[in-house]
Amino acid sequence: MENNLYIFNTLSRKKEQFVPIHENKVGMYVCGPTVYSDVHLGNCRTFISFDIIYRYLIYLGYKVRYVRNITDAGHLEGDRDEGEDKFAKKAKLEQLEPMEIVQKYTIGFHEILSIFNTIPPSIEPTATGHISEQIEMVKSILESGFAYEIDGTVYFNVEKYSKNLPYGILTNRKLEDLLEGTRELDGQDEKKGRLDFALWIKAKPETLMQWPSPWGWGFPGWHIECSVMSTKYLGKTFDIHGGGMDLQATHHTNEIAQSQACNHTTPVKYWMHTNMLTVNGVRMSKSAGNGFLPKELFSGSHPLLERGYSPMTVRFFMAQSHYRSTLDFSNEALQASEKGFSRLMEGYKRLQKLTASAVSTIQTAGLRLKCEEAMNDDFNTPIAISHLFDALKAINLVYDGKETISVADLDELKIVFKTFIEDILGLKSENTTSTGNESYKKAIDLLLNMRLEAKQNKDWATSDKIRNELTALGFEIKDTKDGFEWKL
Ligand code: AMP
Ligand code: ZN
Repeated sequence: MENNLYIFNTLSRKKEQFVPIHENKVGMYVCGPTVYSDVHLGNCRTFISFDIIYRYLIYLGYKVRYVRNITDAGHLEGDRDEGEDKFAKKAKLEQLEPMEIVQKYTIGFHEILSIFNTIPPSIEPTATGHISEQIEMVKSILESGFAYEIDGTVYFNVEKYSKNLPYGILTNRKLEDLLEGTRELDGQDEKKGRLDFALWIKAKPETLMQWPSPWGWGFPGWHIECSVMSTKYLGKTFDIHGGGMDLQATHHTNEIAQSQACNHTTPVKYWMHTNMLTVNGVRMSKSAGNGFLPKELFSGSHPLLERGYSPMTVRFFMAQSHYRSTLDFSNEALQASEKGFSRLMEGYKRLQKLTASAVSTIQTAGLRLKCEEAMNDDFNTPIAISHLFDALKAINLVYDGKETISVADLDELKIVFKTFIEDILGLKSENTTSTGNESYKKAIDLLLNMRLEAKQNKDWATSDKIRNELTALGFEIKDTKDGFEWKL
């Protein structure tokens, strides 16, 4: 299969023509969430970007196996093997079993991604479901001589590895530079080298999640699961590996080293990294405390938001920037996207209502090619969207009777709009716009205020009627000391 798709490869730092390893097939692995808390919008940006990439590869005719893992064990607070286990800490805080934490946030993650209309991956493997495979890989790295065990913990020997193979290739950094960025080892450290990282970590008696291994009871290090699950489901060398840019320097760098040490081959042909969603220029993250939850965005309940925005407005907002650019999150930017999205969908609706004429007086035939060209240029969604906007002008001229369009051109235009808007960008019309949502909320508030008035006037019949009928429609109404609260 021929294609003109070019992908920016982090390994070479340039755009390369995409040639899959096996004809017509693509293997893609994307690092999934650590399910110990709600996903924030930054995480969603990465997953939505890869959803569009997945959809476009399918459009090009590839049979794609898309693997996105769930990290449900082994992720300590510090990315460098220090600190408390994220799941255990949350489990104590919420007084739940670690696996209850995992279940709760996995369900929440799926819910949010489905609201954003993303397609589920082909396989969604979990770290806890692959403990024995992880132990096998650690054993094999030990056998290859690139790891050592100290008192139940197994470390990867970065210095030894880098004498044989390049270590910091993803970020193009030499070992000396990397060493400069890390602190000196002291008497507390058991590992031999400052850059060494844990493949398997010895459990303390109180560790909640632990498994038996040849080195005693313990749990896997954070990076090993991705080497294991990508190899298991996609092979020793596969086409695309993705994730956010924040994973390049440590997680992905270590993943390459592990896979190479175990499988003796380069694991990934194209490394793709999405840029960060920021708030006032600062990366959105749980630790920075500037994480917006999707639900806060939809309802407008976050203190920094003036009001709520619909899921498709947010998806459109994300598609309007290229995945390798930073995207700053603000009320103004969201409002502009809301307008843009409703203009696009309005035009799309108008397109369905157009009547064809014998000939076209407007030029729309090249639209598919232009949109493909944009997407083939490293998935340039903003340019593809701008071509759709250009076509809207033509649609409006025909709609207003100033120009005409032929049957063939109209049919093609309808197909191209459907393909790019729905199938590739993954946008869909929403029954209520967020302005509609606002009005709807106000209408319910109005009814409940009338109920309050009725109560004050001791008009129990009216007050009960409003409450009972809203309850029958599925609303939950709670009387509070300040008035009322409701939810559907
Ligand atoms: P985590 O749950 O922290 O392991 O992150 C899940 C995914 O979200 C990873 O691919 C991260 O790189 C990505 N990610 C985290 N923060 C952001 C952000 N602010 N913008 C875009 N992607 C992010
Ligand atoms: Zn990973």
